[in-house]
Amino acid sequence: MQKHNFFAGPSILPQEAIDSTIEALKNFAGTGISLASISHRSKEFDAVMNDAVALFKEILNIPEGYSVIFLGGGASLQFAMVPFNLMKSKAVYVNTGTWANKAMKEAKLFGEVVEIKNPDYFSLPKNFNVPQDADYIHITTNNTIYGTEYRTDETYGIPVVADMSSDIFSRPVDVSKYDLIYGGAQKNLAPAGVTFVIVKDEILGKTDRKIPTMLDYRTHTKENSMFNTPPVIPIFTALETLKWIKANGGTEGMLKRNNEKADTLYAEIDRNPLFKGTVAIEDRSIMSVCFIMNDEYKHLEEEFMAYTKTLGMVGLKGHRSVGGFRASLYNALGIESVNALVNAMKDFENRKK
Ligand SMILES: *Cc1c(COP(=O)(O)O)cnc(C)c1O
Repeated sequence: MQKHNFFAGPSILPQEAIDSTIEALKNFAGTGISLASISHRSKEFDAVMNDAVALFKEILNIPEGYSVIFLGGGASLQFAMVPFNLMKSKAVYVNTGTWANKAMKEAKLFGEVVEIKNPDYFSLPKNFNVPQDADYIHITTNNTIYGTEYRTDETYGIPVVADMSSDIFSRPVDVSKYDLIYGGAQKNLAPAGVTFVIVKDEILGKTDRKIPTMLDYRTHTKENSMFNTPPVIPIFTALETLKWIKANGGTEGMLKRNNEKADTLYAEIDRNPLFKGTVAIEDRSIMSVCFIMNDEYKHLEEEFMAYTKTLGMVGLKGHRSVGGFRASLYNALGIESVNALVNAMKDFENRKK
């Protein structure tokens, strides 16, 4: 049976990227040696690193003056590395959910944090005042757990840092509006184990703080992510995913694909009397679609979940802090999986009404 993979992360990747990684694990670039066993300093892997950085920059249209680096530690290490490298005394954090909260917690170790937050996480703060004496503002563009997303690139008068773990490459991004963008790769790019960072070179080196070598972005920008052994396998898969994105229309192609999937699913959530969406309509994410059952049908949630499992759908359970359902519609997910889910919702409605 075909599986429909709605997992929030790690999550679906292009089958082509998985297949070429399997091939490279057996015989990497015709060397007769596994990707897992070859020196990261070999010319073959060096080419992978260079191509991955070049394609990353090409697809996102990254302007001159920015570096792209691949690190370990996940987005969660960036929660600390960002303030460690950028915060002199004060930063603004837009608190839009669990991940933003975790980022903010780390920043508080290094200085004053001005928190911007709505009463709950079901809508996004907008048009708020940004203290112009802060060193930077931190936003989380897609809130994987609650299902809200900032889908346009704004300026705030001060440097902007964005956690784009779960929506990188889902749409064109105006990178020039950001000073630093980071994310764990395991949502839209690669298997877990690598973290990408896009950083404007001129913002580095401005704090007086002593920074341990491995936590200093400049160590990695200077050494092309090869200061120490990088996560070679996920970086290889990232390159293959980037090739797939390029072959499928780049970020414009991804946006079209993702809009079609999200529009299809939200239309059914809004039409079907059994279900309802959980977040403000204007803030709905096209990557993380969260929904629940209407009060009078709430007792059927488990039954619906079990039904979707019999149809090969996996990963639909909402995060434990929200409940209900969450369909992650990452780039690699095909429209046929969304259609299968919509059909399941219709079938279930017909059986229960
Ligand atoms: C998944 C996720 C993270 C966590 O990433 P790790 O690589 O596991 O540390 C952080 N931020 C956002 C927005 C995420 O979606």
